[in-house]
Parts: sequence; structure tokens; C-alpha cells
Amino acid sequence: MGVGGPARFFVEAEDEAAILGALRWAQERGLALHVLGGGSNLVVADAGVDGFVVRVALRGVSSREAGGAVEVTAAAGEPWDALVAHAVERGWAGLECLSGIPGLVGATPIQNVGAYGQEVSQTVTAVRALDRRAGETVTLAHGECGFGYRSSRFRIGEADRFIVLGVTYRLLPGGSPAVRYADVESDLARRGIARPSLADVRESVLAIRRSKSMVLDPDDPNRRSCGSFFLNPMVDQATFERISLAAGDPAMPRWREGDGRVKLSAAWLIEQAGLRRGDGPGPVALSTRHSLAIVCREGARAADVVAFAREIRARVEARFGIRLVPEPVFWGGLSLER
Ligand SMILES: Cc1cc2nc3c(=O)[nH]c(=O)nc-3n(C[C@H](O)[C@H](O)[C@H](O)COP(=O)(O)OP(=O)(O)OC[C@H]3O[C@@H](n4cnc5c(N)ncnc54)[C@H](O)[C@@H]3O)c2cc1C
Repeated sequence: MGVGGPARFFVEAEDEAAILGALRWAQERGLALHVLGGGSNLVVADAGVDGFVVRVALRGVSSREAGGAVEVTAAAGEPWDALVAHAVERGWAGLECLSGIPGLVGATPIQNVGAYGQEVSQTVTAVRALDRRAGETVTLAHGECGFGYRSSRFRIGEADRFIVLGVTYRLLPGGSPAVRYADVESDLARRGIARPSLADVRESVLAIRRSKSMVLDPDDPNRRSCGSFFLNPMVDQATFERISLAAGDPAMPRWREGDGRVKLSAAWLIEQAGLRRGDGPGPVALSTRHSLAIVCREGARAADVVAFAREIRARVEARFGIRLVPEPVFWGGLSLER
């Protein structure tokens, strides 16, 4: 978002020994240790962070054949989209819909990164991490990661316990691409592609994301965002019926989940609460291309982002009686709660 102040202490850790060293150094001094990837899902307070920020810069990608599949292991500091491109080029299915998401590999299990019908939890088989509590390296299998919609054990429950060092994804050589979203289907149809390759789907996803300012593009006036600012609410049937009644619109977007809950569109709720794309107090505003992204302009401060996010949340709550949950992580004592 390009807001926020400095870290009191900062190190870029290029190997695992440096990460362990940083952890010990912070523990000895009673400092809070914050782990930074690409910084694309963070809002940092204007006063900065009174602690130790470690930027994970571990690099390396390897792969091995595993019973008809291929297991790709990437170090936490690898740029995510380059890994997706690498898989697509080799014809390995499983990540193609996750094209164009900013950030690094190590952050992908944290909120179970997802888009266009794919989530990393569908392919992650193992997460190697430094367990801060025990001070040792552990390998967590898929079932130990507690994945859910934009969540995991690393984000909810045991946030701050693990520093991700590397992630293994199980991909399918020669597999078909996932085409699960109407937007992707119609982009492929527009291009006259009936049997899309992984590369075709990647191209469609990138084009759709670009049209919504959801890729990092230095020339895009909406570029300073953290992507979606709020999660799509997951509600039970009774809450869904209440919101549906309040909306009075049979076309209200909804997706039924396997567990009986219903996922609603936060963007739609925001628009129905009276906010349109581009609306905002000035230095911060809704993106002109996506009503779920708060964008920063010249002179924006973290305090402006928080104040505007509170206003959006209050308007949706007043209209529908539902409280939106922010997606980014806040550092430096920031919170939407007063
Ligand atoms: C334009 C735009 C579009 C986006 N679109 C999507 C989307 O479609 N789907 C989606 O899911 N997200 C999306 N995001 C959000 C973001 O890209 C992802 O959450 C991404 O995984 C964050 O990666 P990062 O490396 O930048 O993490 P950071 O922003 O640096 O960190 C995010 C959180 O992860 C923690 N973390 C990072 N690395 C590690 C590590 N190695 N070990 C432990 N904790 C770590 C941090 O401490 C922090 O809590 C978008 C963001 C932007 C700006």
C-alpha cells in the first residue's frame, strides 16, 4: 500500500542460519519479531514497527517425480508468480489460476492464497518451518496446516509460531487446467479457445486480473492496494436468509459451500451499502476498478486507510447487520477495532 513507518530493526535473511540468528537475537532482547515476505498483504502503522522485521529472502526451487505427480519444493523467498509460470511452462497443473498474485512463496500457506477456484491448500503437501517455540525446524504435512478459506493454522490459532522456510506443492504433469469461474470461461470463449491449455488459462487469469488492477503494475493508478481489503463473508443459512431479505435482490451473489454455509460477495455488499468504485475521502479511495480494494494515492497515511476501512465496515454493518473482516495483516498496533 506504500504507507507506514520504518522497522526499529530490520534484516534480510538469505539463509536459514540468518533466520535462526534473528530469532535468537530478538528473543534475547524481548523484541517482537515480524516476518516479511513481499509486503503485499500488510498495513503498517505510520509510526512504524517497534520490533525486529525479518525479510525472508531464501531462494531455490527443486522438483521430483512422485507416483505420477511432481512435487515442487520452493524456498519461502521465491517470488510466487515466477513459480506459477515455471509450473505452467512445464505443463504441471494445479497452480495456473493463481497466476498474478503478488508476494512470495512463504506467505502462500499463511492465508491459503486463492483465486478463480484454486487455493494452495489443494496442492500443498508439506510446509517446512522454523517453530519459534521450540527453536527447531519442523515439517508440517497438509493435514497439520489447518487450511480454511483464506486461513490456516499459521494465521488463526497459532499466528506467529512458525516462520515458513519452504513449501512443497504436488502438481499434475499433463493435467487439465481448472476452469471454474464464469469470468475465465468467458475470456477463453472470447478468444475462441474451446480446449484451453494451462498457458491459456494463465493468460486469461492475468488479463482478468489486470482489468481489475489485481496485478502489480507500476503504471496503474490503482496499484497501491493490498488486493481485496475484506474477506467474502461465510455465513450460516439463517444469516444468509436475513441478509437476503435485507438486500431484497434475488440476484445477490452467493456460493454454497460443501459444509452448508454460504459465501457472500463483500464487493457486492459494499456497493449495496452505497459506495461506488472510486469513492473515498481523497488520499485513499475504493479502486476505480474493484470495489473490494482500498487504494492509496499521493499523501496517503496508514491512519487514512484504517479510517476509511472502518467507514466501509460501518456502512455495510448498518445496511446488512454483518461485520466485514479485513484480509490484510496489520503491524504496529493498527486495528479496525477502536
Ligand atoms: C494487487 C493484489 C492482488 C492480490 N490478489 C490476491 C488473490 O487473488 N488471492 C489472495 O489470496 N491474495 C491476494 N493478494 C494478497 C497477497 O498477495 C497474498 O496474501 C500474498 O500471499 C502475500 O504475500 P507476501 O509475500 O507479500 O506477504 P506479506 O504481505 O509480506 O505478509 C503477509 C503475512 O504473511 C506473513 N508471512 C509472510 N511470509 C512469511 C513466512 N515466510 N513465514 C511466516 N509468515 C510469513 C507475514 O508475517 C504477514 O502476516 C493480493 C494482493 C495484492 C496487492
